[in-house]
Amino acid sequence: MGRPNLFGMGKHALAAAMAERGEPAYRASQLYSWLYARRARSLAEMSNLPKALRVALAVDYELRWPEVHERTLSFDGTRKYLFRLEDGATIESVYIPEDDRRTICISTQAGCPLRCAFCLTGIAGYRRNLRPDEILGQVATVMAEHPVSHTHPDRSEQDPFPWNVVVMGMGEPLLNYEATLASLRVLMDEDGFAVPPRKLTLSTVGILPALERLAGEPVRPNLAISLHAPDTALRRALMPIEERYGIDDVIAAALRYPVPRGGRVTFEYVLLGGVNDTPGHARELARRLAGRHAKVNLIPLNPAPEIPFAAPAPDAVEAFAGILAAADVAVSVRRPRGRDILAACGQLHLRQAEATAATRP
Ligand code: SAH
Repeated sequence: MGRPNLFGMGKHALAAAMAERGEPAYRASQLYSWLYARRARSLAEMSNLPKALRVALAVDYELRWPEVHERTLSFDGTRKYLFRLEDGATIESVYIPEDDRRTICISTQAGCPLRCAFCLTGIAGYRRNLRPDEILGQVATVMAEHPVSHTHPDRSEQDPFPWNVVVMGMGEPLLNYEATLASLRVLMDEDGFAVPPRKLTLSTVGILPALERLAGEPVRPNLAISLHAPDTALRRALMPIEERYGIDDVIAAALRYPVPRGGRVTFEYVLLGGVNDTPGHARELARRLAGRHAKVNLIPLNPAPEIPFAAPAPDAVEAFAGILAAADVAVSVRRPRGRDILAACGQLHLRQAEATAATRP
């Protein structure tokens, strides 16, 4: 594995490393700022650190971001990244420019153990948890490659277009709690990436003990819950985790979650043609959420050959949204992005895994 990576170390770890070297405490702050606010790619750039310290650190540490294996640009500006990690695992991130914001979608695990029936990442299987350097490295890479907004090229680097980060890529973040939270702390830290908590959203199926723990964190992101069905039986058929953490408890815990100021919890609902997209399903979902401080994000399935479901009919999406709205449940429909570049969650990774398997003897 070689030398430890400076990138990914938190405030405490950097402070301990500097103390051990007999360096003054402010060196750790300087280093932290170079790593996460200015996102230097080498120790050589860190001009306010003494040369001798930089040389000594270079002997003991590396400064490494995950390696981009492939970049794919969609006609709509969406850019998909496939990172290849040291052990050969591949993970995906997505850059999504929109009219009024731009978003980075990041992964927290290589693969996923949850095996939701419609999700390609689950179909491809589970490999391992990501470390903070691998989680933060996705954000650092995408930010570095987009210093100026595509949708607002007139905005300068001094007046940057704000970033949103969504933890909605591969993996279940609450099954990788320590590394995910260590990463989120650096992302939200004003001395770090400085992404405001309300511009950061963590998506989860609702791993209840970890969700309670997240609710107790001093600084928390927004919360999105993957619901996908309005009742136990259907949710169990689509999401094996329902067996362990049931829909009633998940919804109750989500509604208790202290969202950042001005926000509300989102329930994500992937619409599968003819499976969970009927008016009856919409009415049952409306019954559960009417009068609650929440919103529903309807996600028409991003289909792929390996996924045994079809996208919903456009009429069904409209009718479903209409029933929720009529019941006073805030609802939005996610526009499909990057269809032409295999942007369905896990699609690049799966193709990579297949290619690797095909080349093995
Ligand atoms: N494990 C977390 C985060 C990753 S999934 C979670 O489940 O929330 C992020 C979102 O993408 C989830 O709502 C997931 O259900 C959705 N998703 C997965 N595959 C999809 C597909 N093929 N089309 C549309 N949405 C999909």
